[in-house]
Amino acid sequence: MTAPDLTIFDELESNVRGYCRSWPAVFDTASGAWLRDEDGRDYLDFFAGAGALNYGHNNPVLKEALLDYLGGDGITHGLDMATVAKRRLLETLQRTILQPRGLDYKVQFPGPTGANAVEAALKLARKVTGRTTILNFTNAFHGMTLGALAVTGNAAKRAGAGVPLPHATPMPFDGYLPDSQDDPFVWMETILDDASSGVDKPAAVIVETVQGEGGVNIARPEWLCSLSQLCSAREILLIVDDVQMGCGRTGPFFSFEEAGIIPDIVTLSKSIGGYGLPMALVLMRPELDQWAPGEHNGTFRGNNPAFVTATVALEHYWSDTLLSTATLAKGELVHRTLDEMCGSFEGLSTRGRGLVHGVVFDEPSQAGKVSQVAFEHGLLVETSGAQDEVMKLLPPLTITEPELDHGLAIIADAVAVVCDGKGR
Ligand code: PMP
Repeated sequence: MTAPDLTIFDELESNVRGYCRSWPAVFDTASGAWLRDEDGRDYLDFFAGAGALNYGHNNPVLKEALLDYLGGDGITHGLDMATVAKRRLLETLQRTILQPRGLDYKVQFPGPTGANAVEAALKLARKVTGRTTILNFTNAFHGMTLGALAVTGNAAKRAGAGVPLPHATPMPFDGYLPDSQDDPFVWMETILDDASSGVDKPAAVIVETVQGEGGVNIARPEWLCSLSQLCSAREILLIVDDVQMGCGRTGPFFSFEEAGIIPDIVTLSKSIGGYGLPMALVLMRPELDQWAPGEHNGTFRGNNPAFVTATVALEHYWSDTLLSTATLAKGELVHRTLDEMCGSFEGLSTRGRGLVHGVVFDEPSQAGKVSQVAFEHGLLVETSGAQDEVMKLLPPLTITEPELDHGLAIIADAVAVVCDGKGR
């Protein structure tokens, strides 16, 4: 294997670059669940653009629509102007996603990143309620801009802010405190109901149903249900950040569907554009839509090619339940295989929902080592969690079962290289 030529990246690109260090290859083309580097080496993708490629790389159905649109000189950049592509997207979102679920939401197009959507959601919650504090959760990740970072847990990321990150109060996520399963909201309810607790009445609570960056921490449906009731009883808005877990990652389109809750505000980004194209949405209950025209804006809210691929993705994958059923079945397969593997090694466990799974290493450094060996064997899989102690499997939802088996076999081999087997 020849060493990749990373000269220009090392010389010119900022030190801030990350993934090109963990995966030293120069990628060139990609299709479905595979990437190819410039030397012709193939890599199976258990990373899926950090959740932006749920429908795989260069999905042919989406590509055809995109090429047709570009070939016909369709609008590329449109700020928030009304366009044919945006009309089709809004109509399709209403028909395939909102109406079948009985969801009455208005749709805001913020800037195209997840952090853009989170900032808009926080700003709106504060504007509508006239309150400033947001309750967030331990190990949460909501983005790298200052408002989103204030509700993010990770110390290293927070340190990068360079200024105080105020107006956010962290609460224990489901399972964070040992032995708290039976009464997980005792602390939160106590401080909210005590005018002398020192915590101002919050504008909103922001939560991920599964904390992807935080280490694949999974909130139980009943926990989410209690959280939702707790918020509505106190007129606190509930924001579900579905940037990573939405668009079918956990099975249903929205990750909160299993809990049967209806958040006041939902953020979506990553896979909503369908093709890896930048796009984000904020969904809000109609009465919360108290924005004045132009009060929140941005140059890149109208990425019309992304509207085209988003529309086709919704039509093609969300007009029936085939994708979500297949995702749950593939998730079962992943869970069974990982569970069996973890049983054979010291200090390993697994958890997951749909097609997001974590392998937790009691010895944190092993997670990165296993990912490194997996890369050498042709698999992209990243780590997450406070100490990068969790290997996070996030394959495209469109991956085939043989491809899943192939990637899981690479992981098992890599674990065998790095970890001690039981009874050895
Ligand atoms: N929210 C969640 C739950 C995320 O996982 C992420 C990205 N990992 C973000 C927000 C931020 O998205 P972006 O990187 O596009 O700003």
